[in-house]
Amino acid sequence: MTVRLRPTLASLPSYLPGKSVPGAIKLASNENPYPPLPHVLARITEAAAGMNRYPDTNSGSLAQALADKYQVAADRLVVGCGSVSLCQQLVLATAGEGDEVLYGWRSFEAYPIITAIAGARSVQVPLADHSYDLPAIAAAVTDRTRLIFVCNPNNPTGTAVSGAALVEFLDQVPVDRLVVLDEAYREFVTDSSVIDGLSLLERYPNLIVLRTFSKAYGLAGMRVGYGIAADPAVAMAARQTQLPFAVTQVAQAAALASLEETAATELAERVASLIAERARVTAELRSLGYAVPDSQANFVWLSEGTEADGGVEATAFAAGCEGFGVVPRAFAGSGVRVTISNPDENDKFLAAARNLR
Ligand code: PMP
Repeated sequence: MTVRLRPTLASLPSYLPGKSVPGAIKLASNENPYPPLPHVLARITEAAAGMNRYPDTNSGSLAQALADKYQVAADRLVVGCGSVSLCQQLVLATAGEGDEVLYGWRSFEAYPIITAIAGARSVQVPLADHSYDLPAIAAAVTDRTRLIFVCNPNNPTGTAVSGAALVEFLDQVPVDRLVVLDEAYREFVTDSSVIDGLSLLERYPNLIVLRTFSKAYGLAGMRVGYGIAADPAVAMAARQTQLPFAVTQVAQAAALASLEETAATELAERVASLIAERARVTAELRSLGYAVPDSQANFVWLSEGTEADGGVEATAFAAGCEGFGVVPRAFAGSGVRVTISNPDENDKFLAAARNLR
């Protein structure tokens, strides 16, 4: 006899993390290649000395520091165990059995999992030209829609929707449906037509913007993200669906240390170098005949297709890269996502890409 599990588990997609292959360069998880800053490490060590105590379950100091940074009231801030946790908390806060969670597809792999765990139904709207198709998403809103994810820039394609398109979309969404603007990669955006989601919060009470310390701040292993809601009630709802003590004291300290001026300046320099590398890798790939959509994130996308169209056969391409000691992320039948790293690691990937053409 086996334990009675919820039937939904049988059809739950599993989250496949980027592969780590010993000795190979991992470009599979959109991580920041640079090690923690000494200042941040020191603050982590200090915080670890107090680990016999539980952390502040609401991450109050960090929420306040973020509120100060963005000049918003602290009750609109919610800190989570990674922004993926906040995605889940928001789905749990809005959607249950029979409800719909709407998003573009392909997009962040966690959205369908989180939705299924909540017992809600995923409604996936295909991307158009590798990009979120906001008019089609607006048209797919039904009475049952409770939450809409807009991943901007989108993981895994790197494309970003323009501010004008986003405003037009938000104007169409009923104000009683939550829009979660997932800006995990916001710090890498350079296209001035892509609006900073925070600037829309005053206008759309049903909007929450999610950010993370995992990417630009290089704290993926620490697990800290945050949301800024237009409406404090939404931030409160996300706090209510959080596991108690989900964000460790050490993670809170690491994030706080990263916000301090000297750390923030050094981190911004690293982001600038990753952005420069993104431009170099994109140009080089295009000169080799790969069709690469414009990326506004810390990764590039090679979509499935024929060589004549600049495409790749995702699984074979990724296996080929592994042969050259580089591990990108393959989405079988869909494409390959390659994280932008430091110049040396990017060169190794480009050498593989050159050989595979
Ligand atoms: N949103 C998007 C679009 C992502 O790509 C990721 C990380 N892969 C996350 C959220 C979650 O990041 P974290 O939980 O590390 O903050």
